[in-house]
Amino acid sequence: MIVAEHKPLKELLALVEGFDRILMVGCKGCVSVCNAGGQKEVAILAAALRIARKRAGRPIAIEELTLDRQCEPEFIEWLEEPVKKGGCQAVVSLACSIGPQYIAEAYPTLPVLPGLNTTFMGGTVTHGVWAEYCSSCGNCGIANFGGLCPVTRCAKQLLNGPCGGSVDGFCEISPETPCVWELIYERLKNLGQLDRLEAILAPKDWSTSLSGGPRKIVREDLIL
Ligand code: SF4
Ligand code: SF4
Repeated sequence: MIVAEHKPLKELLALVEGFDRILMVGCKGCVSVCNAGGQKEVAILAAALRIARKRAGRPIAIEELTLDRQCEPEFIEWLEEPVKKGGCQAVVSLACSIGPQYIAEAYPTLPVLPGLNTTFMGGTVTHGVWAEYCSSCGNCGIANFGGLCPVTRCAKQLLNGPCGGSVDGFCEISPETPCVWELIYERLKNLGQLDRLEAILAPKDWSTSLSGGPRKIVREDLIL
């Protein structure tokens, strides 16, 4: 899933500074799972903004809405009524950064503000802890590494073995993070595939990653 976190309240207050009537829109997708932008978080954040602005002597009216998803235009259409009816001056999106961009494209004259920092693609480690697992390089090669991703989980993105700097199984760059190459070694050993480590992999082709420019997938079989 896409993992995101709230922008600090101070930053959000600065973003809504010039407005006294806004619409805050959450998303029931990934950001809801990571407790950043679901219905509950919209309610909490809206309340915090109202209280802060009331204390500052400049109350703000905030209408709340949470869409099934903000990363598909058909759900963005649900904003039409609250935007018109509420006469909102700006929208704060609590989706990953795809949401505010879709809203901005749908409402060219309406200011759209991101309420979250979109952080990475990852998963839940334990309650309240999420970690990055994939950087969407566009050409998954984890079959070479026992199913683990050194592109994302090795601080140096080493693809032909470890740097040798790990300490007690943890990365020398990020001491609280396990060295993924130690994990890869253990996995390959368990799979009986340690011979994979003797092969030298060719330099990775990064043209399928964001380095090759914004990417697009076109599925002719699905286009109506
Ligand atoms: S190799 Fe690329 S696609 Fe596969 S997990 Fe790593 S970053 Fe993601
Ligand atoms: S210690 Fe391991 S994870 Fe950290 S940079 Fe070196 S090889 Fe990569």
